[in-house]
Amino acid sequence: MLQMRRLICFEKLAFGGAAIGVSVRGFCSVDFSRIKICGLPRVVIVGRPNVGKSALFNRLIGRREALVYNTPDDHVTRDIREGVAKLGELRFRVLDSAGFEYHPSSSILHRTASITASALATSHFALFLTDARAGLHPLDLEVGKWLRKHAPHIKPIVAMNKSESLFDVHGSLSSAANEMFRLGFGDPIAISAETGLGMPHLYASLRPLLLPSLLNDEGSFQHSHHQDTSLLHVDKSTLPLQLAIVGRPNVGKSTLLNALLQEHRVLVGPEAGLTRDSIRTQFQFQGRTIYLVDTAGWLHRTKQEKGAASLSIMQSRKSLLRAHIIALVLDAEEIVNARRSMKHAEVVIARRAVEEGRGLVVIVNKMDLLRGKNKSSSYEKVMEVVPQEIQTIIPQVTGIPVIFTSALEGRGRTTVLNQVVDTYQKWCSRLPTARLNRWLQKVMSRHSWKDQAAQPKVKYFTQVKARPPTFVAFVRGKTQLSDTDIRFLTKSLKEDFDLGGIPIRIMQRSVTKKDATGASKSRRSLGRVAERTVSDKRSVLVE
Ligand code: GDP
Repeated sequence: MLQMRRLICFEKLAFGGAAIGVSVRGFCSVDFSRIKICGLPRVVIVGRPNVGKSALFNRLIGRREALVYNTPDDHVTRDIREGVAKLGELRFRVLDSAGFEYHPSSSILHRTASITASALATSHFALFLTDARAGLHPLDLEVGKWLRKHAPHIKPIVAMNKSESLFDVHGSLSSAANEMFRLGFGDPIAISAETGLGMPHLYASLRPLLLPSLLNDEGSFQHSHHQDTSLLHVDKSTLPLQLAIVGRPNVGKSTLLNALLQEHRVLVGPEAGLTRDSIRTQFQFQGRTIYLVDTAGWLHRTKQEKGAASLSIMQSRKSLLRAHIIALVLDAEEIVNARRSMKHAEVVIARRAVEEGRGLVVIVNKMDLLRGKNKSSSYEKVMEVVPQEIQTIIPQVTGIPVIFTSALEGRGRTTVLNQVVDTYQKWCSRLPTARLNRWLQKVMSRHSWKDQAAQPKVKYFTQVKARPPTFVAFVRGKTQLSDTDIRFLTKSLKEDFDLGGIPIRIMQRSVTKKDATGASKSRRSLGRVAERTVSDKRSVLVE
C-alpha cells in the first residue's frame, strides 16, 4: 500500500499517460497564452549528471528556441538554457541547469554554486530529476542537500526519469519510488523524457503550483477571477534588477561598466539567436543580482569596432524597454564646451525613460577633466547647473539623481550602484492601502481648495501596481481631480513616503454612492480597476 502511494501515477504511466487535462479543483482558469513571457513563472530542472535534464528540457520546450547563457568559468564553458515550456495549457519558463551542475575537479555544484544559486534565486519552482533505472544515487542525496541549503524557498517536485524501462519489470518502479522518497521532497512522479510517458502527471503536479504563483503576480496577466488586493503586496524589489547603461558614443559607458564590474563577479555570454552585441551580463551587488541590459558587448569591443558601432539611440530605445533602471551617461567636458547638460539625443532618451515609467539615474562622467587650476570653476558649475537643467528638461519628476564620476579613475562607481539600487527600491515600493487612506485624510485637509464647494471628494486611495508605483484615487461626485490636484497629491506622496526621483502614476476613477459605501467593497472591485488602468489614456504621469 505504502509502496503504491509513493509512486504517483505508475498505473497511468504504464498505459502511456492519460490525456492532458487533469482537473485541479479550487483554481480559476488562466489563459497562459495571454501572459507575457517575462510574467511566466520560472521552473529550473536540477539533478546530478546523466539523469536526462536536457532531454526533459527539450521535450518541454518542443521546437521553440532556447536562450543560451554561456558562462565561462575556469576554462570550462557551461551553458544555461532557458526556454518557454508548454505542457497542456500551462506555460512556464524552464531552465536547464545541465551545464552548471558539475565540475570534474571538485564536488557536484561546488565551483559553480553561485551561478546555480542565482538561477534558483530567480526561479519559483524546481524539478528535481533522478534516474529510475539507477535508483537513488549518492549524488542525488548531495543535490537534495544542496537544494535545501541554497534554495530553501523552493520545494522541488521529484521526477524519476527513464521510467519507461521499468514499467514492465514487476515491482521495480515502486521500489525505485520508495528509494526516491528518502530524498525528503515527497512522493516522486514517474516520467520518461525520451518517450513522453508521465507528462500528464508532471502537468498535474505543476498546475496547482503555477496557478497560485500567477495569482500572486499582478500585472503579468489578466484573468476572469477578481484579485484580492492582499495578494498584491509582494515585495518585488528583491527580484533581479535590470539595468541599462545608455549614452552617446565615447561618453565612457564601457569604461564605467568595466569599473563597476571590476569588483564583482561577472557572467558574460551570448544569447542564442540574437546578434553578437546582445550579450547578457549579470553581477552581484550587496547580495542582489543586477542584470545589465545590452551592455556587455562593449566589454570586449576593440577600438576599431567602436564609434559608429557603439550604442545608437535606436539601440538605447530598445534597451529602455527591457530595463527597470536607466543610467544615462553624459560627458562632463562636452557639457562645459556645449554649455548645456544634454544634447538632443540625450534629452530624447531621458524623457522617454520617464514616459515609459522607468527609473532614471544620470551620470556625469569624466569629471577628472575638469580638475586643475583654470578648470575648477567649471567643476563647481557643472555640479550646480546639471541637476537644475535636468529638472527643467523633465519637470514632471523632481529630484532625478545625478552622480558625478570619473570612470577612468574608478571614482563614483559605488555611489552609482548605491543610487541605482536605491532608485530601484523606490520604484518597487508598495504602500499599504490602510496607510494610504490615513495619509489621504491628512493630506486633503492640508490642501487649500480655492472653492470649498467644488472640492473633489476622494473617497478611497490605493496603490494598484508597483514598478513604477501607480495609484488610483476613487472620486465621488461630479468634481474630478484637476491636474493641479493630482500634482499636489503626487508631491505629497513623494515627500511623505520618500518617493522622489522616480515616475509615479495617479489615476482617478469615479465611484457612485453605492460603490463607495465601504472600503471592503471598493477593495473587492480592484481587480477590475487594475486591469483597466493599463491602457487608460487619462492616466497622468507625474511625480
Ligand atoms: P563608450 O563609447 O561610451 O563606451 O566610451 P568608452 O568607455 O569607450 O570611452 C571613450 C573614451 O573616453 C576612452 O578613451 C576612455 O578612456 C575615455 N574615458 C572614459 N571615461 C573617462 C573618464 O572618466 N575620464 C576621462 N578623462 N576619460 C574617460
